[in-house]
Amino acid sequence: MDKIDFMRLNALTKDDTKITVEIDQTPNNCPYCHRVIISKLISSFAAGDDLRIVFRCPNDECEEIFIGMYTPLYSNTYSLSGISAGNFSAKKYSITITEISPVFIEIYNQAEFAEQNNLIHISGVGYRKALEFLIKDYLILLKPEDEEQIKKKPLGNCIKESVDNKNLKTVAERATWLGNDEAHYIRRWVDKDITDLKRLIDLSVHWIEMEIETKKYLEGMP
Ligand SMILES: [Zn+2]
Repeated sequence: MDKIDFMRLNALTKDDTKITVEIDQTPNNCPYCHRVIISKLISSFAAGDDLRIVFRCPNDECEEIFIGMYTPLYSNTYSLSGISAGNFSAKKYSITITEISPVFIEIYNQAEFAEQNNLIHISGVGYRKALEFLIKDYLILLKPEDEEQIKKKPLGNCIKESVDNKNLKTVAERATWLGNDEAHYIRRWVDKDITDLKRLIDLSVHWIEMEIETKKYLEGMP
């Protein structure tokens, strides 16, 4: 584990006593404008065993207030475990992806909504489901004669047997492994998380766009 530089600050208890606490980090993303920020600390409060810190976004066009939720690591030392919900920012996709799989975009953004509201157990399963629609709709576009078979087959087998694009196969396969971790009791990839799953889905989207858009130009300009 990387060495953590703890930050020391004062927090108020419910009877207005000041106590000194340490935190591992401040939020580095604003839940309202969704920019990378250095959160401005306004005030801190002890809340039962936990700590709550009020922050302000330093971005001039935003300046919103939000709350960082902290849980105890050890005595008087806390770790950031979540932030209060702000505005939902939906992920935008290209026309190519919108044409291939509008349902993928819908499910992905529901998972994103869950994640932005700290429902991380639900969002992981949602990303896994979104991936299944993306890959299957892509395969149905390329092999419409196999549609019924593709719909029924487990996602892992679809990728192994039907995806010919090597780059897509590599990333989609790994996305499936991490996606399955989100749905099962035991985690196989303990050092990977939702961020890795989302990155692999992004890469799958990228390779599908490259392939389909290149194909469109080849057909339009033989
Ligand atoms: Zn902001």
